[in-house]
Amino acid sequence: MPPTARKRKRKAPSSSSSRRTRSVSRLDFRSAADGAWYGARVAVQGGALRVMYEEFPEEQDEWYHPAALAAVSSPSRHGVVAALRARFRVASPPLDDARCRDLRPGAPLCVSCPLDAGLLKFYDAVLESVLPAAHGTVDGEERCACRFAVRWTEGPRAGSREEVGVERVCCVQSSPVQDPVLNEFLDGLTRLLGSGSGAGATASQETSAVAAAEGGGVPGDAPPGFHRKFGART
Ligand SMILES: [Zn+2]
Repeated sequence: MPPTARKRKRKAPSSSSSRRTRSVSRLDFRSAADGAWYGARVAVQGGALRVMYEEFPEEQDEWYHPAALAAVSSPSRHGVVAALRARFRVASPPLDDARCRDLRPGAPLCVSCPLDAGLLKFYDAVLESVLPAAHGTVDGEERCACRFAVRWTEGPRAGSREEVGVERVCCVQSSPVQDPVLNEFLDGLTRLLGSGSGAGATASQETSAVAAAEGGGVPGDAPPGFHRKFGART
């Protein structure tokens, strides 16, 4: 899992000629390892979904293999697709200093949470109230000085309250993910899982090819959020 996370900022995507089908949109992705949210992009390579964390080396990429997911999912096949889908959402932009007054109690937020060893991870929280303060100006830009009382809903502090500054707040968006690469993969996975053990599945020959290449094996103790890292493949 990614060892750390920082304040999200939009960055130009790094280019890679090996990324055959690559998402254009930046997404939020919840790591199965720590439940925190990270900026990520996705690609489909060799039939597998590749999740590329922003600001982390490619060794940290996660790969979701249709055959492996199908094997894990036998008790509740569609639950696995839904669970994977739920780990993605539209990127949550940092709260704009000049827009703090738009926030209302109950607003879903994603807030940076300082952890031991200098780690900073993003977890979900709900806004309880805003303690307004006069805004200042730095280098011609408005700076919010308000405090935001939030209640953590996820992460190590779930259930507790905290007052945070604007620099720690991102705004969770309600719009659905419209990433064509991700949606196509998940739709294909749905069809694959819905049609039995992959025979005649519309999720493509690619899937079968990758399954054959990987042997389709899954550890017996694989958790529901099973993922495996294949390392970089070109
Ligand atoms: Zn403010």
